Amino acid sequence: MPKAQETTLEIDLKALKHNFTYLKSKLQSNSKFLAVVKAFGYGSDACKIAQYLQDFNVDYFAVAYVNEGVELRNAGISKPILVLHPQAANFKKLIEHCLEPSLYNAKVLNEFIKIAVEEKQTDYPIHIKFNTGLNRLGFWENDVEYVVSKLKLTQSVKVKSIFSHLAASEDLNEKEFTENQIENFKSISSKFIDAIGYKPMTHICNTSGILNYPGAHFDMVRSGIGLYGFGNSEKENENFKPIATLKTIISQIHLIEKGESVGYNRAFKSDDFLKTATLPIGHADGIGRQYGNGKGFVTINGQKAPIVGNVCMDMIMVNITNIDCKEGDEVIVFDQNNTAETLAEATKTISYELITSISQRVKRVFIK
Ligand SMILES: *Cc1c(COP(=O)(O)O)cnc(C)c1O
Repeated sequence: MPKAQETTLEIDLKALKHNFTYLKSKLQSNSKFLAVVKAFGYGSDACKIAQYLQDFNVDYFAVAYVNEGVELRNAGISKPILVLHPQAANFKKLIEHCLEPSLYNAKVLNEFIKIAVEEKQTDYPIHIKFNTGLNRLGFWENDVEYVVSKLKLTQSVKVKSIFSHLAASEDLNEKEFTENQIENFKSISSKFIDAIGYKPMTHICNTSGILNYPGAHFDMVRSGIGLYGFGNSEKENENFKPIATLKTIISQIHLIEKGESVGYNRAFKSDDFLKTATLPIGHADGIGRQYGNGKGFVTINGQKAPIVGNVCMDMIMVNITNIDCKEGDEVIVFDQNNTAETLAEATKTISYELITSISQRVKRVFIK
C-alpha cells in the first residue's frame, strides 16, 4: 500500500467483497440482500461502495434521506433504493429519482399517496415500517387495518415490503425481547398480507440480526456495519475485515521542556521532558474533542502515541517521546489491526460513530 502523504482514508474493496461474501454465506438462497449505504456508506463513500456492490448480487440499497438516494442515482446506481427516513418535503424529488420511501405513520402515508396521485403514478413501490419495540419509527400492529384501508382506496402505490427494526439484535441478554419483536413482526406480516391480498417482501434483520437470528432472515436482510467490517461483539468481529484505514503524517516534531504546555487552553502541562508530533487531522476531520487528553491514540512505527492536550479543529498533537520517528513519517489512526472499534471504545462510543464522522474533506483512496 502507498505511504500516506496527507490525511487519507483508504478503502479496501477486497475487504468489502470478503464481508459481503461472508454475510451472503449466512443467508438462505431465497433471502435477498439489501446493502445499507446511508451516511456516505458509513463514512467511506456511498457511491463507490454501491457501484462496487451493484456488480455482485446485491438486490437493494438503503439510505436514510432522499438526497443520499439522489446522489446514488446520479452515480449510475440503478438497483432499487429504499429511503429509510424520508421527509414529506422531498417526496416529489423522491419520485423523480425512482427512490422508494419507507412510510411509518398516517401523516407520511397520506402525504405520500397525495403526491403519488398528483404525479399520476400507478403501483409506485413503497415500504411500510412497523414498530415492534424499538419505539423509533413505525406503525403499530393495531394500525394494520387502517393502513390497508388507506391503500385499498388508491391505485397510485403498491407495497413492495413491510419491515421492522430490531432494538438489541447484538445483545444476547435481550434474546427474549428480540424473539418477541420477531414474533410480533410475523403476526403483523400475516395480518397485513391477509388484509391486502398480495404478498410484499418482509424483513427485520440488520447485521447482528443476520448473525444471531438466522430464523428471522425472511425475504431480505439489511446489512450496514458488517459490510464495512465490524460486528457488535468480539465474536461477531471475527469474520469481518474493516474496509477503512485512516492514515496521516507527522507535520512537525516539538521538544517540550518540563513546565511548558501543549495546545489550546494549555490543557496539557508537562511535568517532564516530552517529544510531540503534530498531525494534520482534527475535530473537523472526525476526531472529536472527546479523544483529546490521552483518551485517543494513533500508531506510529508500530507504537502507540496518545493524544496530548485538546484536539484542535485541524490538528492533534501526540506523544512520541519513546518512538523513533521523524517529520513526514506515516501515522495510522486506525486500520485492520488497530481498529476503529478499539479507538472508539477508548471514548466509550461505537465503531459506527467514529467511521461515520470522518469528514468529507478527508481524501478517499480505493484499493482494488
Ligand atoms: C442503519 C440501519 C440498518 C443497518 O444496521 P447495521 O447494524 O449497520 O447492519 C438496518 N436497518 C435500518 C432500519 C437502519 O436504520
